[in-house]
Amino acid sequence: MAGLNLRKINKIYPNGFHAVKDFNLEIEDKEFIIFVGPSGCGKSTTLRMIAGLEEISSGEMYIGDNLVNDVAPKDRDIAMVFQNYALYPHMTVYDNMAFGLKMRKVPKDEIKKRVEEAATILGIEDLLKRKPKQLSGGQRQRVALGRAIVREPKVFLMDEPLSNLDAKLRVQMRAELSKLHQKLQTTIIYVTHDQTEAMTMGTRIVVMKDGIIQQVADPQTIYNQPSNMFVAGFIGSPQMNFLDGQLYEENDELCFKFKNNTVKLPKDKAGVLRKNNQINKEVVLGVRPEDIKNESNTRDKVDFITSKVEVKEQLGSETYLYLDIDSKKLIARVKPTFNPQIGDDVKIYFDMNKIHIFDKETEKAIF
Ligand code: ATP
Repeated sequence: MAGLNLRKINKIYPNGFHAVKDFNLEIEDKEFIIFVGPSGCGKSTTLRMIAGLEEISSGEMYIGDNLVNDVAPKDRDIAMVFQNYALYPHMTVYDNMAFGLKMRKVPKDEIKKRVEEAATILGIEDLLKRKPKQLSGGQRQRVALGRAIVREPKVFLMDEPLSNLDAKLRVQMRAELSKLHQKLQTTIIYVTHDQTEAMTMGTRIVVMKDGIIQQVADPQTIYNQPSNMFVAGFIGSPQMNFLDGQLYEENDELCFKFKNNTVKLPKDKAGVLRKNNQINKEVVLGVRPEDIKNESNTRDKVDFITSKVEVKEQLGSETYLYLDIDSKKLIARVKPTFNPQIGDDVKIYFDMNKIHIFDKETEKAIF
């Protein structure tokens, strides 16, 4: 078993900077868990504390049932893969992969077996005699992974391992890492600032900001039920649109007014807002770009809003429209068949069953 339990972990650097604050997390055996957040939010610091490369200021860290706060990195049964592969340039791929095992005095034939197995898993059997400089970026990354795999660790730690690869290779390696996780059946903790990597690979995502966990959930829950405006804005591309406005009742309907526009809320959502005492309050409405629809999408009675098209980005499979509604800027993701001209006034509506409402002061999601 190689679950991890991080209990109230804090990191205060010697200069007094509080980089990780009361980090509580249970990671189950065989999970592929992703730490995601903007630069400086404390992801790497947390990973390095798990690896034992950084001292824990307070709190308890368990790997399996063992308290590891004071256990040396080499005795933690974990392997770390970094973004700058750190391969030895003068050694062949085989020797790079074998190096750690040689140092541990693993018998020669066992080393050979493990290196060959890892090479097969990663599809680099033909590269074993080459030196790192004779490899592409993606191949080097595979060797770095191979070096971790041969150690047969209980836990893999990966710190932005794909960030040095070009966009196409990154997409390919994302899929390969997911496959690798299934094959190896081990726990992987993966750090990235890239929300796409987080959404596509993780079984669970930990969203961090300023050293504090904002939300821990599976990708779909993070996307559909973000806990606050930060998570809602960070996950999803283009990002969620936020509109400041006010909730008020009129003829038994709950309305949201922003600028010169009003939209009515569905009954179930209105009920939740009433229960949460949000009536007549200033709130923030969140709507994802794909939930902004154009007129032809419906025959239902909806609240249309007139907007002006300022910019159009045609990506082939979809189009992003940059819209202006009374000087408020929004992005809509529409089908390419909807093709207004720049400067056109278009009638749009929000899919009100998909919208989010946030408390304006706390920025927490009401739904
Ligand atoms: P990135 O994506 O840029 O790598 P991160 O989320 O991994 O960011 P960390 O590297 O964990 O962030 O750093 C968290 C915070 O701690 C940052 O504000 C950083 O400046 C600070 N920090 C990191 N190392 C030290 C140190 N040795 N002394 C003081 N502050 C540090």
